[in-house]
Amino acid sequence: MKPHEHAATFGSTNGELRLGGLPLSRLAARVGSTPFFAYDRGLLDQRVDRLRAVLPDRVELSFAMKANPMPAVVQHLARRVDRLDVASGLEMQTALDTSVGADRISFAGPGKTAAEIRQAVAAGILVEVESATEFRRVLAAGDDLGLEPTVAVRVNPDFAVKGSGMRMGGGPQQFGIDAELVPALLREYATAGADVLGFHVFAGSQNLDADILAEAQRRTVDVVSDLAEHLISPLRYLNLGGGFGIPYVERDRPLDLERVGATLLELVEGPIVERMPEARPVLELGRYLVGECGVYVTRVVDRKVSRGTTFLVVDGGMHHQLAASGNFGQAIRRNYPVTVGNRIDGAPGGAVTVVGCLCTPLDVLAKDVELPPADVDDLIVIFQAGAYGLTASPTAFLGHPAPPEILV
Ligand SMILES: *Cc1c(COP(=O)(O)O)cnc(C)c1O
Repeated sequence: MKPHEHAATFGSTNGELRLGGLPLSRLAARVGSTPFFAYDRGLLDQRVDRLRAVLPDRVELSFAMKANPMPAVVQHLARRVDRLDVASGLEMQTALDTSVGADRISFAGPGKTAAEIRQAVAAGILVEVESATEFRRVLAAGDDLGLEPTVAVRVNPDFAVKGSGMRMGGGPQQFGIDAELVPALLREYATAGADVLGFHVFAGSQNLDADILAEAQRRTVDVVSDLAEHLISPLRYLNLGGGFGIPYVERDRPLDLERVGATLLELVEGPIVERMPEARPVLELGRYLVGECGVYVTRVVDRKVSRGTTFLVVDGGMHHQLAASGNFGQAIRRNYPVTVGNRIDGAPGGAVTVVGCLCTPLDVLAKDVELPPADVDDLIVIFQAGAYGLTASPTAFLGHPAPPEILV
């Protein structure tokens, strides 16, 4: 997808990108400083509506909060999705502040401490154990608090998924319990009287290929329905993961969501109802729900030419939006979609390189991009900044102030 296609999803007024009904320069004045992140609630709603329209009715939608834990975003989505997934103690607190019931919150991720697990058990949150140690901690917390913990097992499957930006299942992994070890562990837990609700498999993140996602879901259902036979009661929790990707670089094509929905329907109406009739399958999405709804806005503070290359130096950088600099999991640096937000209709003014204000050559936000002519005080907008932006960036590096985040 090209930058102007991204701009079109937000709309424009008199050559200015529009966000939350305001032209960008007015919004910047409202915020009072640059850089900042802005997330568009209308686009969040559209995304949820589209998922609901395409996914089988039986499928529940969970928001994986680590993609964007800003409390206002979480509160907004909490009223629209079925569940929340948290990966830390702080995310757990944010989730518990919403209207989503504790029994609809899951807690995943490696390295959960005994203290975090105790908090989750006390809250009544579903703990997805990633190791035998975590399971013991859940049982201990339950004993200590006199509560029956709700628990599921995150399974590291024996298959890997190609085409994911980040692989998180198959082979040796810090995530989940190896599938072949799960039956013996379930026997042990049954002896301890623990009622395991079900399983979670998350194969990888940022996948744009509907066929590969479908294949991962099929194999997940296979693995899980076999494991379900080792549970003491019927499986009630079936988390199929997600990993739906969004287009970042120009050659990326958006995910064919209809196709994903169609194959998921076959699974839901086939093996899932047949072998796990009490399960409501859960899709757990982070990036896909929020990534395209947000922008990172910075202001040009300098324009300089060095030996034939024009640099626009902006007041933000990789300390806020690490992924756009190519340093968050990308093998090869490619430009994220970028525009001059207060001149989006301008004719191309020649290739420029947009760099941040950090004193490191890593701080490149866009290299050799054709942009409308831009100078000091113009607003550079980086699209696809709604997921893994601010909280996935090294904000303390060089000690600049943290940028505001707004929901508009
Ligand atoms: C990170 C994560 C997600 C969200 O992944 P996206 O690719 O952003 O959708 C979902 N589930 C788990 C367990 C995760 O760790």
